[in-house]
Amino acid sequence: MDKPKLTIDEMAVFCKRKGFVYPSAEIYGGIAGFYDFGHLGVELKNNIKKEWWKTFVQQRDDVVGIDGSIITNPMIWKASGHVAGFTDVLVDCQKCNSRFRADTLIEDKLKIPTAGMTMEGLSAEIKEHKIKCPKCSGNLGDVKKFNLMFTTSIGPVQGSAAYLRPETAQLIFADFRLVQENARLKLPFGIAQIGKAFRNEISPREFLFRMREFEQMEIEYFVHPEKQDECPFIEDVIDYELNVLSAEMQKNKKNMEKLHAYWLASMHKWFVELGASPEHFRIRQHVKDELSHYALDTWDLEYEFPFGWKELQGLSNRTDFDLKQHMEHSKTDLSLFDEETKKKIIPHVICEPSQGVERAFLVFMFDAYNYDKSRENVVLKLHPKLSPIKIGVFPLVSNKADVVKKARGVYDELKQHWACTFDLSGSIGRRYARADETGIYATVTIDFDTLEDDSVTIRSRDTMEQIRVKISELKDVLSKFMEGEKLGKMGKGVG
Ligand code: ATP
Repeated sequence: MDKPKLTIDEMAVFCKRKGFVYPSAEIYGGIAGFYDFGHLGVELKNNIKKEWWKTFVQQRDDVVGIDGSIITNPMIWKASGHVAGFTDVLVDCQKCNSRFRADTLIEDKLKIPTAGMTMEGLSAEIKEHKIKCPKCSGNLGDVKKFNLMFTTSIGPVQGSAAYLRPETAQLIFADFRLVQENARLKLPFGIAQIGKAFRNEISPREFLFRMREFEQMEIEYFVHPEKQDECPFIEDVIDYELNVLSAEMQKNKKNMEKLHAYWLASMHKWFVELGASPEHFRIRQHVKDELSHYALDTWDLEYEFPFGWKELQGLSNRTDFDLKQHMEHSKTDLSLFDEETKKKIIPHVICEPSQGVERAFLVFMFDAYNYDKSRENVVLKLHPKLSPIKIGVFPLVSNKADVVKKARGVYDELKQHWACTFDLSGSIGRRYARADETGIYATVTIDFDTLEDDSVTIRSRDTMEQIRVKISELKDVLSKFMEGEKLGKMGKGVG
């Protein structure tokens, strides 16, 4: 089995061809940074979100979720610092007026990291290396700041400006007190959210990697300000190995907090348990000048995309910055009463795992994509929990009414339990290939013998192994197969 590396553009083509992702409004020429998810993409995306929510919210005692609004009181974004400081560095072409993100332009042209460079430093690099406009080769101006928040207005009154949220985190801080009281949470605890975020990125690119509308899965994990070194769950991950590149190795900085280590390992584990390859991940600490305005320390979980090691997930130590800001701006007390010391305390967010859903989508697609030379087709080896469609039901022939009817009966039963598809067009080989390419985990074929012995053939996507089982046992066998049991052990092999 060969696994050629797809480029990001080739992945975009594959996703479009197979019904995963389309450029938004393509019939009107599309719109940069916006994508629509097709009939398979929406299932994969929902499965990713469902697995994340199950692992990090439902299966934990210390994390609860919320679903905040996309447009909210703009004071939130003033308090959080986004109005003043949520900016990227932009450079204009003085000839054609095209705009580029200065840091990525320099990284692309000079192949050097720009993390931590000041605006003056970036301008100097552009001048010194005579970097020109990539579109028309015109001269570039000075580097300036550009705020990434989309603005809108509320109601019919002019001037009531608002923003589309650029991150989900702030809604968690603003609702902090209500959630803590109503869910009766005791420190340390987390509040999670999955939802849309919007950023007016200067140069959206690399397909789903840098979009203007995307989704985030985030947890704000609150700890007692005097117990920041404690992590009650560290033993769960103590032997877990990660590929780490610390700021100390890059320049100079402090070591990882236990809670940071715990969440990094847990997030990495989540990806690996859902089928991603551990060797494609590494952990990188932000160097001092790279940190966001709210962060004391940040560690990124990075993935080796075809265009290099890039941030997959950011895990920041936001301290008590956000709660304090909201206390000051809203004049509301968001502190908690500490029973031990009988004092009011403001919890710290020592770690905020923040994951883009679409970047996770890319990881699972890249790691699942295999071209099988002997089959002469792609086999999309998605974990069964993620596969958009788990089971394909195929009547061996499409022109025999009793075989088709029997197959429909099997399909009607199986679709009560899993996402299934019914396919009777083309040869059986063609149908298997189509199923492989879209990640269908198992196929069930109904043939002439089924009419006699009530048995069907199950085929494994990954091994092509086939077994014969009774229809009465089918649901049980498929359940076990999807939980990882070997197909060969559960029925009579078919040659
Ligand atoms: P980058 O440095 O790549 O711009 P960031 O540091 O601004 O990312 P965060 O603010 O930490 O990103 O956002 C948390 C996560 O949200 C990121 O790790 C990423 O998975 C996702 N994300 C951020 N911006 C985008 C985007 N424009 N398109 C898709 N996903 C994004």
